[in-house]
Amino acid sequence: MAEYKRPDNEQEFKENFKQKKPLMNDTQAHYESSRCLFCYDAPCMDACPTGIDVPLFIKQIQTGNTDGAAKTIYDSNWMGNACGTICPTGVLCEGACVYNHQDVAPLLIGRLQNYATMSVIESGKQLYYPGEDTGKKVAIIGAGPAGISCACELRTLGYTVDIYEAKSQPSGLTVHGVAPYKISNEEVMAEMDYLQNQLGYNIIYNHPISTKEELTKLETGYSAIFIGVGLGITAPLNMTGENLKGVHGAVEFIEELRMKHSEMKIAQRVVVIGGGNTAMDAASGSARLGAEEVTLAYRRGKESMGAYDFEYDLAVSAGVKGLFNASPLEIVGGESVEGVRFVKTELVNGKLTNIDGSEFTVPCDMVIKATGQAKQGSLLSLIDKLTLDEKTRIVVNADTNQTTNPMYFAGGDAINGGAEVVNGAYDGKLAANGIHQWITQN
Ligand SMILES: Cc1cc2nc3c(=O)[nH]c(=O)nc-3n(C[C@H](O)[C@H](O)[C@H](O)COP(=O)(O)OP(=O)(O)OC[C@H]3O[C@@H](n4cnc5c(N)ncnc54)[C@H](O)[C@@H]3O)c2cc1C
Ligand code: SF4
Repeated sequence: MAEYKRPDNEQEFKENFKQKKPLMNDTQAHYESSRCLFCYDAPCMDACPTGIDVPLFIKQIQTGNTDGAAKTIYDSNWMGNACGTICPTGVLCEGACVYNHQDVAPLLIGRLQNYATMSVIESGKQLYYPGEDTGKKVAIIGAGPAGISCACELRTLGYTVDIYEAKSQPSGLTVHGVAPYKISNEEVMAEMDYLQNQLGYNIIYNHPISTKEELTKLETGYSAIFIGVGLGITAPLNMTGENLKGVHGAVEFIEELRMKHSEMKIAQRVVVIGGGNTAMDAASGSARLGAEEVTLAYRRGKESMGAYDFEYDLAVSAGVKGLFNASPLEIVGGESVEGVRFVKTELVNGKLTNIDGSEFTVPCDMVIKATGQAKQGSLLSLIDKLTLDEKTRIVVNADTNQTTNPMYFAGGDAINGGAEVVNGAYDGKLAANGIHQWITQN
């Protein structure tokens, strides 16, 4: 029996996909900030990939200096609001808070962060200005967290910035990939508008860069280029039945869900294949859309899943059932999907092995493949002297994010193979400073 009723309108959709971390009110923020011990060696700060001065911004909230708190956050992380909401804080800043050692709930750092950043986003308070004009232009490919962060930082350094974006909206997977119960489209766009209004970079939408000619044009028109293209569509399973009607890629499924909301169609019985965070989001999303039965199938044991425990727990609380040690053999059906045939697996001498004769079929009307995203190899192969590693990730200098073609810098999922928004934010800022250093010295 489904936990959620199918949402028929926007109101019902919002109810099913209610925000997991709602905005704090003044009293909550005042109380929560008063709990901070302002540790001198603040482990919460070390645990943040962007190194936000957590005790400082909490102190600023505590003393009523909310604008100052927001400035402290944005000084380190241009995606300050999005990260407060969607970062896996339990394994980052909040997971490192000293209260965890005393059996006391850690500070709600992410929600305090949102309290401060939403306050300036809503008031439109100008915290940043473009730097003195250097007369130089930088092109950015991709308006995801990495590209936007790079643009913001470059503008403060006085560069003209043009971002070429394939889609019609900024923020990349923040609006197209992250589950809707973590952050709403409105909240993502409010931060995007806030940053662009202050810093004035240009975004050329619906403009994918895909040919050698376009790249050559960028190389002659700009002093440097930042690659922030992320990853591609869901990777193929290379399995019989993959092209049947009703088989979807998880990233494409979530993107459609984020755009269509209650108009999104869902089947009665859904099988999600995969064990990462994207699989959890797809399974949770299917359940919240009102699917009767959602099975999350993973070929190894539960403990081997790549997903965070809290993401799995969230999916289970939405009514998702886990099926472990089940490896998919084929997707069965006529024109449309009718089921997935699995074989049971076990570990033999540390090697995952199929158990002969244990095949079984889970009937379903929809399959969501959450087996990773393909890389952007075809675009990257057009760039001269760009070194990629064995996993098709762009190789960069870790201090500057400069690639092996000195004119190109890169960041985000395109260099780490798929991480979090906060990593893209860090990379974009680092690369902007790398670009500045390189242009200044040449
Ligand atoms: C389903 C899913 C759920 C996730 N949930 C979370 C979460 O809860 N919390 C979290 O922190 N992270 C989450 N992530 C990861 C996070 O979204 C990414 O790590 C982050 O968005 C990477 O940023 P990026 O800028 O490198 O790439 P992207 O966000 O992918 O942005 C790349 C941008 O480049 C554009 N682009 C691509 N190719 C071209 C081209 N040729 N020309 C022009 N533009 C181009 C794309 O349209 C896109 O806008 C999730 C990812 C997925 C897939
Ligand atoms: S570790 Fe916890 S108590 Fe210490 S500074 Fe950070 S948030 Fe405050």
